[in-house]
Formats: sequence, C-alpha cells, structure tokens
Amino acid sequence: MTDWFQETLHPEFTQGLSMDKVLYHDKSDLQDLIIFENARFGRVMCLDGVVQTTEGDEFVYHEMLAHVPILAHGNAKSVLIIGGGDGGMAREALKHQGVQVTMVEIDGAVVDFCKEHLPNHSAGAFDNPRLNLVITDGAKYVKETDDRFDVIIVDSTDPIGPGAVLFTAEFYADCKRCLTEGGVVVTQNGVPFVQPEEVTNSYRRLGESFTDVHFYRAAVPTYQGGDMTFGWATDDASLRRVPVAALEQRYAAAGIDTRYVTPDLQAASFALPRTILSLMTR
Ligand code: SAM
Repeated sequence: MTDWFQETLHPEFTQGLSMDKVLYHDKSDLQDLIIFENARFGRVMCLDGVVQTTEGDEFVYHEMLAHVPILAHGNAKSVLIIGGGDGGMAREALKHQGVQVTMVEIDGAVVDFCKEHLPNHSAGAFDNPRLNLVITDGAKYVKETDDRFDVIIVDSTDPIGPGAVLFTAEFYADCKRCLTEGGVVVTQNGVPFVQPEEVTNSYRRLGESFTDVHFYRAAVPTYQGGDMTFGWATDDASLRRVPVAALEQRYAAAGIDTRYVTPDLQAASFALPRTILSLMTR
C-alpha cells in the first residue's frame, strides 16, 4: 500500500507525491522536516507540509535565482543568500569564481539534514572557503549587518511561519541598505495562478524601496499551478535589459555549464503575460 504526501499549502488545491521510502522525518525547534524518495522526482524535501525542493527539478529554480541576477549585474563580488538551507543556491552562486557568498539560514537543522540526505544539492558548497554560513533569522541579519552585497538572493519558504518576515516592506528596505550601488535583490515569489496576492504584495512592498521592480519567471514542475515568479528589485533599470549578445559573453566568460538557463532564456524570462502584469498594481 503506497503512502502519499499531501501538500497543505493551498486549502482548495493539493499535490500528492507517493512516498516510496521515507528517509527522515522529524520536527526541529522551528519546522517539521521530512525527506522521502519518489520515483519521478527523486529525493523530496518538505518543511511544514510544503514541498521545498526535489532532486529531479531543483536545478531549474536554483539556476534561475542564482545566475540571472549575478550575470545581469556583471561584476558581482559578494552575494548574500537568505534561507537556502539545502545548499543548492550556494552551490550555484559559488560557481562564479571570485564571488564571496554569505548564506543566512534560520534553521541549522535544515542544513544538517540536507547535508546528510540531499548531498547532491550542496555538492560540497558547505566546505567551500568562499562560503560564510550564518545561522540566524535573515530579517535580523539584514537589519544589523555592516556588510554590503552586490546581489541578494532570497531563497525563502512561502510567506507563512518563519518565512513570513521575508516578504515584508521592512525586510526589503533593510535589503536595500545592505546593497552596493547598482545591486539587485531577487526573491522566491510563488506561483501567481494559485498565489496571485504574492505578486501584488511584493510589487507594492519592493516598490517602497526600489525604483525598478519587476518579476521574471520559470516553470518549476514541483511548484504546481504554472509558471512561478521571481521578484526583481534594483535601482538600475538596465539590469533586466542586458542584450542577449552581452549575456552570451558573460555566460561564456563565467564558464558555467547550466542545465536550464541560457542567455536567450534569461532575457525572455522578464517578458510577462497580461495575467501577471495585471497583478502588478500599487
Ligand atoms: N525553494 C523553496 C520553495 O520555493 O519552496 C524554498 C527553499 S528552502 C531552502 C527555504 C529556506 O528558508 C529553508 O531552509 C528555511 O529554513 C529558510 N528560512 C525560512 N525563514 C527564514 C528566515 N526568516 N531567515 C532565514 N532563513 C529562513
């Protein structure tokens, strides 16, 4: 008899994944953690009843949130990741040679658990001397730090539980304070078909601190309901309009073998359908 994981993110809509083998299930001080194997997605990690990442499609999400802002910026030396406990975002950011990465994760148990049960996500990132791992609340960190970053990547859970604070106007203002001039913030911003309010809220709240707020998108099979959006906020409006030819040069110079993102796709991912544009109101 198959056991099923039923996601609890939406009251009116759920996805089910067969749990072919449960590898770990425990409650940390902060969150309920489970990891299991599924024939289609490989190892699946969930926090508080919500799928966070799977071995099968994590590369789509991690490449889009790491490489798009770093290569749009073009000269990033320091990257801040907020959240990202599985290590996949650190893995992708560290592929940019010469970039120092600070990762601020609220739950040390997620890091420990993913190192053991999802080792392909971090792929050695936690041992990289260019990574500075800080275990604390990301909102507290950006309020207090004196460090400055060229790119901030908010690899958060959804706006419930400890992740809720990472969707507030105050947090975005603190991110702006931590950015170098011309820097950019990108955020995990949900699936607009089923979480339309996330686009509207983020557009308004990011707009309180940044002059150029937009979204870009990708279809990540794990996040059901169509394309997901990534928030984009900067004071340099040219960053999301870097021509494809220039992006081609930057991708080649970075020497990164991507599985999903390409220069063409990076440029095209900022084109939004009317359904998403219509949610961007203040
Ligand atoms: N890709 C996933 C998604 O969209 O569902 C999210 C990735 S998961 C790595 C998000 C991480 O954010 C978790 O490890 C969680 O512990 C962390 N997190 C949640 N709230 C946080 C906070 N306030 N500060 C820092 N990390 C936080």
